[in-house]
Amino acid sequence: MKIIRSIFLVVLLFGIGYFLFKVGSDKDKFVPTLISVDSVYKFPNVKGPMDSTVIAPTHRTSWKKYADGESYGVAILLLDTNDNSNWLGLVHTFKTFGIPFRIYTNVDSALKHDVVYVYPYINGAMDRTALAKLTNFPQKGGTLIAQCVEGVLNPVFGFNSMITTNKNFSAQIADTNNPLLKEFTDRKERKIMFADPELFKESEGTYGYSGLMGNPLMVYPNGQAFLTERDFKGGGRAFAFGINIGYYALVCEGGRTLQAWRSYVNSYEPSLDVLIRIIKNIYTSSSKTAITLGTVPNNKRLTVCITHDIDYSRAMINSMDYAKLEKSKNVTATYFIQTKYIKDYNDDDFYNDSAVGILRFLDSAKMEIASHSISHSRQYMDFPLGKGNERYPSYHPVVKSPKLTTGGTVLGELRVSKFLLENFIKNQPIVSFRPGYLAYPPSLPQALQATGYKYGSDLTANSVLTQMPYQLNYDNSYDEELPVFEFPITIEDRELPEMDKRLDSAVAVAYKISKYGGFWCTLIHPDILGFKYKFEEGFIDRIHDIAYICSMREFADWWVMRNNVHYFVRKNTNGYELHINTPVAIDNLTFFVPAEWTCTSASQTIKQTGNAVLVKNVTNGMTINFAAK
Ligand SMILES: [Zn+2]
Repeated sequence: MKIIRSIFLVVLLFGIGYFLFKVGSDKDKFVPTLISVDSVYKFPNVKGPMDSTVIAPTHRTSWKKYADGESYGVAILLLDTNDNSNWLGLVHTFKTFGIPFRIYTNVDSALKHDVVYVYPYINGAMDRTALAKLTNFPQKGGTLIAQCVEGVLNPVFGFNSMITTNKNFSAQIADTNNPLLKEFTDRKERKIMFADPELFKESEGTYGYSGLMGNPLMVYPNGQAFLTERDFKGGGRAFAFGINIGYYALVCEGGRTLQAWRSYVNSYEPSLDVLIRIIKNIYTSSSKTAITLGTVPNNKRLTVCITHDIDYSRAMINSMDYAKLEKSKNVTATYFIQTKYIKDYNDDDFYNDSAVGILRFLDSAKMEIASHSISHSRQYMDFPLGKGNERYPSYHPVVKSPKLTTGGTVLGELRVSKFLLENFIKNQPIVSFRPGYLAYPPSLPQALQATGYKYGSDLTANSVLTQMPYQLNYDNSYDEELPVFEFPITIEDRELPEMDKRLDSAVAVAYKISKYGGFWCTLIHPDILGFKYKFEEGFIDRIHDIAYICSMREFADWWVMRNNVHYFVRKNTNGYELHINTPVAIDNLTFFVPAEWTCTSASQTIKQTGNAVLVKNVTNGMTINFAAK
């Protein structure tokens, strides 16, 4: 036996030695092995897309776009219309939260409104006559909101002096009983963040107010006021914020904060939302005709989107079980599918004929099919933009290692994956995209638009400090809005403990977001069933009653229609009329009206519950009547 074992060992060692010698010495033999690693899965007779993608050059959005229509809602008095005033940030957050507004550059016209937001600053260099008019406004009963206040109007806002500094990393609610602030009961609502003090020496630029006539509403850690309020005898009020909220909103939404979030994902981070909710509260408590637009379809308390990333061969098969679960719960979900037709370092070329069969199953189950790129590369954020003529099967991005991908372009990943999905399913367009590893190139918004996408889910909600969807700008920057929207991720499946053990905390986050009609999105990779499946099943059951649960596209389509709804209020002899203009009819939209209003329009499609008026089918030119006590 010993001899046989010895002979076997000698043969084995010789064999290994010969193998190493061949691989080490014979490069021709070694190289073909590498080439076969990035082979292409070829669908017969499939080639495209045949058109080309062209990205339009940037064109600054004019403030005039928001300067017409009826005089209703908050008047934004825009005193600086130049490139750097960041007013788009204010406008987008107002639209998100359903605060009606109109922009003015003329002081007299703006002051006809009940509530005026002076943007982006008030200082002593301004026209004296304009300053005098603004001074009089709250004294006559108006509500004046401003930010970055410095100079002769300081007393109007109830403070003596102001110091600018970039050393304020947070602001805390000081007056927790104030009617405008008492809804903020969570620790992360009561303290909002501008930057992480452990990572940065300097924060965003802030204005700290001191020498106050009354109590501050919010303060910085150094005791200076971040938000002041002065009340006037005739009911007028004046508020001063210590940061440029439009700028801050765009910094947040562009994912460019100084890492101001307290945790990256799987928790609640409302810093931006708190500011806009305060403005909303100021508006609704200052105007007798204030109506705001609901943020959730069908007057539910929050919107829930369940999304799956299919970036692994086994996940493709498991996705059918998730879809069956969702169908049995009567909800739809979104499946971001990696159209992986190239075998490389990451995985097999699993986007093949059998994947197409599964795709058709998901499609017939009414699930949203979306793109999760082709290469799923960590370097996507650094990919070149591309020529816009990338086509299957010649487009050839190859992941060589975690640090190297060759042949990929921003446009190629978008247009070729969309083509390959749409080529095999006929019931739906591909309009949503999520990059692998949430790797986000700055050109993504305009690249999405140019390739026919409308929605991205590319960031975590915490990293953008908002639990709401929002409109994207060109280059993720400040100047041009695009018809493309972001739907950030709240909860993911990789962090420990395993998801099913995080169910309570995920439900708790959902309830916090539901307080103001926010958006809750989860990412579940169907690489396994087990604890992830259990989480999803449990979450749907526990949140079902209060949430509108649907695919991202369904909610996003609704969100875009809502984004284009305009309305205003007129007084008549019996009460008030709500006039609605909308380019397209929209279902299940809620208007929040003053508490003492009662809807008198007899219609089966209009239902009032408290101050919420749910309209089943909103059409252009619609008028709804209210009696007011
Ligand atoms: Zn992925």
